[in-house]
Amino acid sequence: MAKRVLILGAGGVGNVVVRKCAMAPEVFGSIVLASRTRAKCDAIAADIGGGRVQTAGVDADRPEEMVALIRDVRPSLVVNVALPYQDLAVMDACLATGVDYLDTANYEPPDVPRFEYRWQWAYRERFEAAGIMALLGCGFDPGVTGVFTAHAAKHHFDEVRYLDIVDCNAGSHGRAFATNFNPEINIREITARGRYWQDGSWVETEPLEIHRPVTYPGIGPRESYLLYHEELESLAVHFPTLRRARFWMTFGEEYLTHLRVLQNVGMTSIQPVRIQGVDIQPLQFLKAVLPDPASLAAGYTGQTSIGCQIRGVKGGRERTCYVYNNCDHAACYREVKAQAVSYTTGVPAMIGAMLMLQGVWHRPGVWNVEQLDPDPFMAALPRQGLPWHEEIDQPLAFDDVPA
Ligand code: NDP
Repeated sequence: MAKRVLILGAGGVGNVVVRKCAMAPEVFGSIVLASRTRAKCDAIAADIGGGRVQTAGVDADRPEEMVALIRDVRPSLVVNVALPYQDLAVMDACLATGVDYLDTANYEPPDVPRFEYRWQWAYRERFEAAGIMALLGCGFDPGVTGVFTAHAAKHHFDEVRYLDIVDCNAGSHGRAFATNFNPEINIREITARGRYWQDGSWVETEPLEIHRPVTYPGIGPRESYLLYHEELESLAVHFPTLRRARFWMTFGEEYLTHLRVLQNVGMTSIQPVRIQGVDIQPLQFLKAVLPDPASLAAGYTGQTSIGCQIRGVKGGRERTCYVYNNCDHAACYREVKAQAVSYTTGVPAMIGAMLMLQGVWHRPGVWNVEQLDPDPFMAALPRQGLPWHEEIDQPLAFDDVPA
């Protein structure tokens, strides 16, 4: 039976989620799109047309506003694709109203860039007791990378031991400097110290200290930088046989030079500075002057390629598996007026929402995607526009396995 969904956030990702949900009326019978700036919701709803999407304005940082909106809309599920700062307020509102919850990024306190699950995992018992579900990190990374790992562990390995998540954007948007998703979150992530999981503990690096070329399918070699990325935390917990888990992302020279200059002049700082009696956070100001990620979509060319390279054992023998998706920016624009970074986040959020609403993935409590059966999700990915490929027992980009 078709259900009602409340989608929160009308940015690059929200635009994709709402359009993909609107294409599946048998699951999403009724759709409400709410965000801080209602005009953005109205513009998307008008473009979709046919009265398919209703809109609302809400400040999700204000729990009472969020609760009132949920009571008014009465959805079966809230899909939170606003910013990570809102996660806990929205989870509180879901608890108060008995409604399921899904997001694509873990909670982050505004004053410390942390990227940790502990605040949201602390809701587990309360969600369980209320009989409702929270699905955390259901974008691409985190999200599909967890599903890919669960799929490989289920079908190809007795034990997964080494995981390298490789994320390449080989697209070109023609701007000197822009971020592909929310600039504030993106820059916080990249300028943070690097970190990876090894032999039961975290190894820290300087920001972007470790890098090497990785060859991406259909793209070729690209310099890839070791970053901390939030899914490493949950994957290390949920796959305890992992001896090492790392995350790599590509950046061009031009991007890194701009970033270095912005950092050197203090523009990426989250410490407020007082200007003419007003406290301004430099990074928030920078966000305001950088291109809106959604505006990069028209004219964006090239592909993204994101996947998991896994080494482990099967039947007593060493095995490798590389499972990945390539996504074309221009094709995304033709389909939903988005670039591939928004698309590869929004489509998995829609699939997670669909599986929850259909009861296929419904389980009270707080869950990361890799804890659920990967099969229905893997089956839905190509149907919803994200075909995946896998190579078994082929050489991987990384052979630096410790003895
Ligand atoms: P954008 O900045 O483009 O959009 C964010 C939206 O949230 C805007 O519409 C904004 O409203 C709205 N918003 C912000 N604060 C509030 C608030 N207090 N109340 C209500 N609405 C609010 O971001 P993206 O679409 O690029 O990213 C959305 C989310 O997806 C982020 O959490 C990001 O970290 C995550 N993400 C996850 C990825 C993954 O693979 N897992 C990859 C990429 C992104 P306004 O227009 O008024 O500012």
